[in-house]
Amino acid sequence: MGFMIDIARPSTWIKFKPSLCEGCWAGCCTLPVEVSAMDLIRLGLITEDEAVDSLRKVARKLHKSGHIQSFNAGKQLFILEQRRGRDCIFLGEKDRRCTVYDRRPQVCRSFPKIGPRPTYCPAVRNTPSRSKALR
Ligand code: SF4
Ligand code: SF4
Repeated sequence: MGFMIDIARPSTWIKFKPSLCEGCWAGCCTLPVEVSAMDLIRLGLITEDEAVDSLRKVARKLHKSGHIQSFNAGKQLFILEQRRGRDCIFLGEKDRRCTVYDRRPQVCRSFPKIGPRPTYCPAVRNTPSRSKALR
């Protein structure tokens, strides 16, 4: 078996290089995704008017529609919902590619430069067994 990457434990991640993404199972898209109102507007989930009006209302609406799992009022940031507590809702179920790539949130653009372990990522070749620590 040898050394195993555990997505929930950044200490087991490996040094990122772009060539790793080819054929990767998209471990990074199973991490909780923190998004701003700006990200939600770009994704087309809310309008600018809704963001200006009330982020709490936005949070209620997007929680109901299954797009976000939580809202941090202090930081004014939302966490995107995950399928079965794991995959990002925007991850293609079959090809495991982002379905909103051109509109993807800022954190997705910055990963892994900015992330739980900067410049490291949970590159995995196959479907790993689900880690309990993810939920
Ligand atoms: S986990 Fe790493 S290698 Fe895999 S898609 Fe994400 S950034 Fe690329
Ligand atoms: S929005 Fe796209 S890039 Fe970002 S976590 Fe979801 S599937 Fe991955």
